[in-house]
Amino acid sequence: MSDLTGRIAIVTGSGQGIGQAIALELARRGAKVVTNDVTGCCAEDTLAMIRELGGDGLAITADVSDSAQVENMVKTVLDTFGQVDILVNNAGTTRDNLIVRMPEEEWDFIQKVNLKSAWLCSKAVVRSMMRKKYGRIVNISSASGLMGQAGQTNYSASKAGMIGLTKALAREVASRGITVNAVAPGFIKTALTDKMPQDILEQLLPLIPVGRIGTVEDVAYAVAFLVSDQASYITGQVLSVDGGLVMS
Ligand code: NAP
Repeated sequence: MSDLTGRIAIVTGSGQGIGQAIALELARRGAKVVTNDVTGCCAEDTLAMIRELGGDGLAITADVSDSAQVENMVKTVLDTFGQVDILVNNAGTTRDNLIVRMPEEEWDFIQKVNLKSAWLCSKAVVRSMMRKKYGRIVNISSASGLMGQAGQTNYSASKAGMIGLTKALAREVASRGITVNAVAPGFIKTALTDKMPQDILEQLLPLIPVGRIGTVEDVAYAVAFLVSDQASYITGQVLSVDGGLVMS
């Protein structure tokens, strides 16, 4: 297991689901983890779970699609810990609809919450990472961003956008000891996918070669590897964690 002792990690949207599992896995490996949510419901709960594991960190409620709130969050982290080594841009959501029924607001909202947030958070931490000549950024994209999903023009575009962001930023900061990668989960059991209609779920399962829906831990293990010292020669890549759903 990789050792993240001494590392400070921010995991956006880590009050529940995939983000929570990532936060717990990084804490298990020794990182201090800043947990984050938007509603104030559960970032503290994740921090309490981290403390039960013997770890530590900070819980910050902030809307990561809002630049002022992102700047405040990162300032608080830098004032508290003096550094940010790891950023996992995980916060995201869906507003599914067929394009003919999708209001423009649902397009804008998803680009802001899923894509702009990753840009804002990366921008806020990258200067301090460059000073330290060390950083790990992981963007949680999606299989939908690679293969497209009907009813998700807004979501698929935002997740494909994260892949472009990943590659461009990876090139910008590679010489400064900072790696930027994306993880593209397939179908993972969380509150987000619990909202999906049963018939869509039944259509999806036969398309997954491994033959099961993924767990939040499946994603967390991949992220824990990409943020480790052992992954220093991997940048600008998209790692699918999807049971073989997308094979490129
Ligand atoms: P989830 O269970 O709905 O959790 C989403 C988390 O993001 C929550 O903690 C939520 O905060 C937070 N969040 C939402 N908007 C935010 C904002 N503006 N600012 C800060 N935090 C915000 O979702 P999930 O299934 O774990 O998904 C996590 C990520 O993985 C998302 O980016 C999603 O697109 C991606 N993904 C998921 C799947 C899947 O199958 N589940 C597949 C591919 C990709 P609150 O708790 O306060 O609402």
